[in-house]
Amino acid sequence: MESESSQELTRGKYSLATELVYIDNSDGSGIRDPYNASSLPIYQTATFKQSSVSQMGEFDYSRSGNPTRSHLENHLAKIMLAKRAFVVSSGMSALDVIARLVKSGEEIIAGDDLYGGTNRLLSFLNKSFDIKTHHVDTTNATSLLPCLHPTKTRLVLLESPTNPLIKVSDIPKIASVVHEKCPNALIVVDNTMMSPYLQRPLKFGADIVLHSGTKYLSGHHDLMAGVIGVKDEIVAEKIYFIINSTGCGLAPFDSWLLLRGIKTLAVRIEKQQANAMQISEFLEYHNFKVMYPGSRSHPQHNLHFTMSDGPGAVLSFLTGDVTISERIVESTKLWAISVSFGCVNSLISMPCRMSHASIPATVRQERGLPEDLIRLCVGIEDVNDLIDDLYSALIIANAISVNRPKN
Ligand SMILES: *Cc1c(COP(=O)(O)O)cnc(C)c1O
Repeated sequence: MESESSQELTRGKYSLATELVYIDNSDGSGIRDPYNASSLPIYQTATFKQSSVSQMGEFDYSRSGNPTRSHLENHLAKIMLAKRAFVVSSGMSALDVIARLVKSGEEIIAGDDLYGGTNRLLSFLNKSFDIKTHHVDTTNATSLLPCLHPTKTRLVLLESPTNPLIKVSDIPKIASVVHEKCPNALIVVDNTMMSPYLQRPLKFGADIVLHSGTKYLSGHHDLMAGVIGVKDEIVAEKIYFIINSTGCGLAPFDSWLLLRGIKTLAVRIEKQQANAMQISEFLEYHNFKVMYPGSRSHPQHNLHFTMSDGPGAVLSFLTGDVTISERIVESTKLWAISVSFGCVNSLISMPCRMSHASIPATVRQERGLPEDLIRLCVGIEDVNDLIDDLYSALIIANAISVNRPKN
């Protein structure tokens, strides 16, 4: 799988796991550090001196550009197979920048199992700027058809797999249908769940890919960042203009931290998804309904693997009872009760009570989000410890009986 990705990398020579740690500026195209520092310094400065009133250097003001941030952006463009990449202050900020490509009166089509914050931003655009969003089930490409408009449709926003229902969208199929019928529309994929290590949507017809860098890319829950990858230079120029105008470019220190996190992306994800596979099998063995693309019982298991190099490390399961789910979540010790995902340590949550609580209960019901759903975001701990802790919690919550054999 890695040799395949390496051939597709536009500027890379090696497999993706290698490209993540290998930064070669020897051709002079990247940021040049005078001392050849192995870790590019944090250029903690707002301004850069000019050599004269008329001669500006490469950088003048950090809102417009900063060497640490530019270095990170060059590195990310290579990894995402993007023409250009941009890093901003959070995942939501990335989405806000992209949403500013939409004019009042134009429309967005988005999935029905979206990240809660995305949902909130889209409602805000609708109320304040007359930008309407149609929510459709993007697992079925034909469900988009009635909403497509040849001139009004501007963005089609996809997540695959979605969170927390882990539904898979056929990105190439949707991209070709939309591009054919709506020449003005851009396919935007929020690829946060997979990270560029497992899925690179720009090669499947997406025009823009975005990631919350707060999640897998940084991997340690110690910073917030948003990453945008763009296929086309004209769109990239518009995105740069918006970032410079609104001033949301990522600060130098956070850029440096994110760059450091990215170096271990491959090892973290490999370990996290291997653990997640075992946990999915453990839960299925105990007859829970599990939602995980790595499971053969997932209805879109095959479709997922046509686009991705792995199942990722987020899975959901149902207990059939909200009170039992609450007790499970509150009885784990190793699994921290926390929103978010992508960190090295394992997290457990009840989306309806936590990350998706901002979506009204009636809308959650319409969109088929079960109140008893538990989401697991698997970390890099020893998998036996994780399973033991989950097993104890399941017993305490009366979700399984003690005398049944363990795994
Ligand atoms: C977390 C997340 C976001 C928002 O990112 P922040 O960095 O928290 O602003 C957007 N999309 C998805 C899928 C996410 O998981």
